[in-house]
Amino acid sequence: MDGFTRRRALTGALAAGWFAAALALPSAQSRTQAKPDPAPVAQAARPDSADLDAIARIKEEALQRSQVMDTLWYLTDVHGPRLTNSPGLKAAATWAQGRLRDWSVPNVREETWGPFGRGWANEKLTAQVLAPRPFPLIAAPRAWTPGTDGTVTGEAVVTAIRTDADFATWTGKLSGKVVLNQPAVDIPLLTTPLARRFTDQDLVDLQVQPVNPGRGRGARAGGPPTAAGFTERLNQFFAREGVVATLEPGTGRNNRGTILVNNAPATYWSANPPMMTPQLVVSSEQYNRLVRLVDGKVPVRLELNVQNRFVGDSLDAFNIVAELPGTDKAAEVVMLGAHFDSWHSGTGAADNAAGSAAMMEAMRILKATGLRLRRTVRLVLWTGEEQGLLGSQAYVKEHFGDPVTMTLKPEHARVSVYFNMDNGSGAIRGVYLQGNEAVRPIFATWMEPFRSLGMTTMAIRSVASTDHRSLDAIGIPAFQFIQDPLDYGSNAHHTNNDVYERVQPEDMMKNAAIAASFVYHAAVRDELLPRKPLPRPQPQPRPASTQ
Ligand SMILES: [Zn+2]
Repeated sequence: MDGFTRRRALTGALAAGWFAAALALPSAQSRTQAKPDPAPVAQAARPDSADLDAIARIKEEALQRSQVMDTLWYLTDVHGPRLTNSPGLKAAATWAQGRLRDWSVPNVREETWGPFGRGWANEKLTAQVLAPRPFPLIAAPRAWTPGTDGTVTGEAVVTAIRTDADFATWTGKLSGKVVLNQPAVDIPLLTTPLARRFTDQDLVDLQVQPVNPGRGRGARAGGPPTAAGFTERLNQFFAREGVVATLEPGTGRNNRGTILVNNAPATYWSANPPMMTPQLVVSSEQYNRLVRLVDGKVPVRLELNVQNRFVGDSLDAFNIVAELPGTDKAAEVVMLGAHFDSWHSGTGAADNAAGSAAMMEAMRILKATGLRLRRTVRLVLWTGEEQGLLGSQAYVKEHFGDPVTMTLKPEHARVSVYFNMDNGSGAIRGVYLQGNEAVRPIFATWMEPFRSLGMTTMAIRSVASTDHRSLDAIGIPAFQFIQDPLDYGSNAHHTNNDVYERVQPEDMMKNAAIAASFVYHAAVRDELLPRKPLPRPQPQPRPASTQ
């Protein structure tokens, strides 16, 4: 037993249990082995316990000397937004690597993946209604769409092109027009709070294992499906017809000036994108006003100036990697991470500067406390998440294996666990076990000292739609924490309102402490964390949505 092991704060019944196990094992082995084991105690896996000395140091550093909101400020106000391969992302990445080095975190680097596609940034946008009354629009371009040719004006036209058969109706009628091809949005009265924390009952409900009910007889999905490739054909039709720009309502997050903006179809960030017109997402109420005016035969004229810049110097993208080296188990790895990229109409604060800043802070805490890590601790800040977990999938394929064939690489066997953070800035209330019952008693022990910070709950359910899913899919234990919802889903996620104010400082400080502690305990544990059975070979995971 080295000095470090003695320092571990084994307490109460857990400590008594460990000593009993440690004492019992050699005699049990001596009955079955001719030669005495030279180091039987070292080979005995101790029951898990929370290292209260380490946790006290972690809490002190995280809650009294936090830098997490300073990190968040740089990632949002200064360098945000951070669309994959955009100039903002690259500036933020350079800053983050510098900050990690300032904290004396070694082995900070970019790890290239790709090809992804072109970088893109909006550099100017004015969207002004000129008539019947002048007013400015709350608007943002869809990512990877082209800008206008300087300042352009056009009359608003409301179309209803829903299928290929509708193209003929509008051929020759849209040149020089600003097209509104979606109906007005129904905007219900808001009668529930925009933001909330989990209640005790919510946390109880989360612990129930969901069962897939199947679709049952007669069940039908709602609405007719859009024909394959229709959106691309529609965009090309508008471009061929000489449309100035298209407008659409930015609905999806309660409206009221909040616009949800993502990208045009995936092919548009490729090196050779198809034809398309500028595409602007505008506030739903303003969109409805324009539709009502046109329907009422009141002519609407708009003036637009959208300057979007494509950056084509490299089609490759990169993840950011930083490592704290381990000691006696340095070849084994404990991973933590978050996606670093964001959408572009806000500054990507809750999604996901919050997760990135908390995980960077966890690295700072581990370094600043000087706690001895047995395994190497590796931070990865992913890119391409919002386009389909692309950065983490590429990393898994490079390092761990191919989930399509389940052909594994040697590094697969040396990773204990990956902790991900991508549920906004809400305080951690527990952890999703991702279907892995074997980690429940271990996490219960690690979680107990954080009960006073509100972390009480383990939910067996699996959650998807973010980067831990890429590691889970290859059979590496990978987890997301349960976080208070706050106003993440109602107001922030993927919107122009995802800015610095959406992030709650105290929650962030708690989250960094918990992440640092879970990572620490995984890094000093005798064994790797238990795994689920290996997944079967599977088609390349293509999540329906990302977070
Ligand atoms: Zn996200």
